[in-house]
Amino acid sequence: MHYLEVANLTKSFNETPVFSNISFDISQGEFITLLGPSGCGKSTLLRSLAGLITPDQGQIRVSGEDITWLKPQQRGIGMVFQSYALFPNLTVAGNIAFGLKMQRLDANDIKRRVAEAVELVGLEGREGYYPASLSGGQRQRVALARALVVRPRILLLDEPLSALDAPIRKHLREQIRAIQQQLNLTTVFVTHDQEEALTMSDRVFVMNKGQIVQADTAEAVYTRPASDFVAGFMGNYN
Ligand code: ADP
Ligand code: MG
Repeated sequence: MHYLEVANLTKSFNETPVFSNISFDISQGEFITLLGPSGCGKSTLLRSLAGLITPDQGQIRVSGEDITWLKPQQRGIGMVFQSYALFPNLTVAGNIAFGLKMQRLDANDIKRRVAEAVELVGLEGREGYYPASLSGGQRQRVALARALVVRPRILLLDEPLSALDAPIRKHLREQIRAIQQQLNLTTVFVTHDQEEALTMSDRVFVMNKGQIVQADTAEAVYTRPASDFVAGFMGNYN
């Protein structure tokens, strides 16, 4: 039973194809990593799922519902980007509450759900802080809480760890995976970092030049690469 179904998705910019006829299926609760070199089309694919980019062709379905033409806020999809994109003039709690206020939830519900999200990402005690006074890792946890607080059906993460120092990156990687498993949240994580892909994912989709060239478990992709490209890319640790 597939939860997220992508069929024949195609996107060009100024007549230059980024990807053509991409198709894949993801089960509910799966953690998928899109892994590939810079410029291969990962962010464009993720942004198409989020509705921030309109595909030229193809369908995106979630739980059987065609969401291809829905607005981003109608999709039930949460997204975290590499750069924090927090509101600098709002506190941690204010940043996390923002999406709920847009949904016009009542004040008590907002308070309760913000508290839940704060606890989920381990930011208790930081609710009144402003982004400028937080570390990079803490800012990404705010961004994650902001994505989770609306209870998305699907979580999309575009290189959320790439701007962070190595020890924090490793810690946050484990924390993201633990939260994802706790919520059984269907997740697509984008990275160019092989180690992140191998350690976090149920399955890895290796991308090159706008194609998914192998989609398999981390173990299979690493030990049985489907092509010279995959073998070379997986062997090329930073
Ligand atoms: P990745 O995330 O894997 O690094 P991207 O999806 O950002 O790759 O980019 C894939 C290709 O599409 C690149 O060649 C990039 O230059 C191009 N591209 C991305 N966004 C745009 C845009 N808004 N306009 C034109 N070209 C774009
Ligand atoms: Mg990108």
